[in-house]
Amino acid sequence: MRLMTGFREAVVDLGAIAANVTHLRTLIGTAHLMAVVKANAYGHGALPVARTVLAAGADWLGVADVEEALQLRAGGIDAPILAWLHDPDVDFAPAISQGVDLGVSSARQLRQAADAAAALGRTASVQLKLETGLNRNGVHEPDWADVFALAAGFERAGLLSVRGLFSHLSNASPSDDADAIGRFERGVRLAADAGLTPSLTHLASTAAALRLPAARFSMVRIGIGLYGLSPFEDQSSHDLGLVPAMTLRGRVAAVRRVAAGAGVSYDYLWRAPEDGNLALVPLGYADGVPRQTSGAARVRIGGGTHPIVGRIAMDQFVVSVGQVDVAVGDQVVLFGDPATGVPSATEWADAAGTINYEIVTRIGNRVPRNYRGPEQDAPSGIDLTVTQAPDAPGPEG
Ligand SMILES: *Cc1c(COP(=O)(O)O)cnc(C)c1O
Repeated sequence: MRLMTGFREAVVDLGAIAANVTHLRTLIGTAHLMAVVKANAYGHGALPVARTVLAAGADWLGVADVEEALQLRAGGIDAPILAWLHDPDVDFAPAISQGVDLGVSSARQLRQAADAAAALGRTASVQLKLETGLNRNGVHEPDWADVFALAAGFERAGLLSVRGLFSHLSNASPSDDADAIGRFERGVRLAADAGLTPSLTHLASTAAALRLPAARFSMVRIGIGLYGLSPFEDQSSHDLGLVPAMTLRGRVAAVRRVAAGAGVSYDYLWRAPEDGNLALVPLGYADGVPRQTSGAARVRIGGGTHPIVGRIAMDQFVVSVGQVDVAVGDQVVLFGDPATGVPSATEWADAAGTINYEIVTRIGNRVPRNYRGPEQDAPSGIDLTVTQAPDAPGPEG
């Protein structure tokens, strides 16, 4: 069965991801780098991305929940993995059996980890998450001493080992982040007083890892930077030396010449101001194209950039190409690396009133992910058997 005609596809450049890891490691310089591959690696494909980042020098993987961690294990990933967001009634046994570190945010979760470890006759590896100002999860400061004492007791009983302490920043302002760093440092000292000896301390995600050296500690948790996107409004991927890894593209499914005044798509949000050509693109909001960008985003077809006109529908949208001749089958790029002349994911985010994280992460299941390898200088050990379309045309094809 060959469905890979480029009808709609997200091309993921694993070489770009490997280069981003190398660049970030050099820039940040911490002893450890956790690659955050939650949510299907921000839409890029958890397994191929995990293999790539590990080969490129990341030594930890981070995911939100245990299910995501177990999927990585099932895919043959044996690197250290941390999962930090849990169902209230989670069964930690499978994670402990498979050597997944548990991010623990409460005494309740600590007991769940210890109970599961006791039942298995194993030691759970946990990392305590401290609340330092984000007010999502994490052990609340008034409970730190009690939770550290409980953890130390479980350690003495051989039920668990506290491998790390971590927290997460709000990025609200430099002074808010400085407060959080101060609180985190107090927590680290208090944990030592309680007899805990975690080998890892970590606080920074991409933004703080790049701009706030004081937040780096022994490890940083890098998500968006792996994928070559900037977490900042005032610096682009290019400014940061990162290469966007995902190109979302499709092929023109129909062309139409319309007369001035013709309405286009549902509700006739747009009417042709003059006689002109339209191209139909087979991606819609089911594929993650934000409906809010109706009339507000642009795509690349051939050598030109053209506006989306009218409502974006579930499966398709229309582009006005004016007097340009486009043909059925021509390639349409929604976003990719702007250095190649195509719109960026950030440009789509601005059009949709959201952030580039959401643009890539929301790409739907109907869009196949097709992988490009790290080419000649492929780090050994990368298994590219997930590659689906070795003979599909390149970005210019
Ligand atoms: C998602 C996430 C990250 C990664 O953040 P980026 O801004 O994508 O680098 C790091 N830490 C935690 C706890 C997260 O939930």
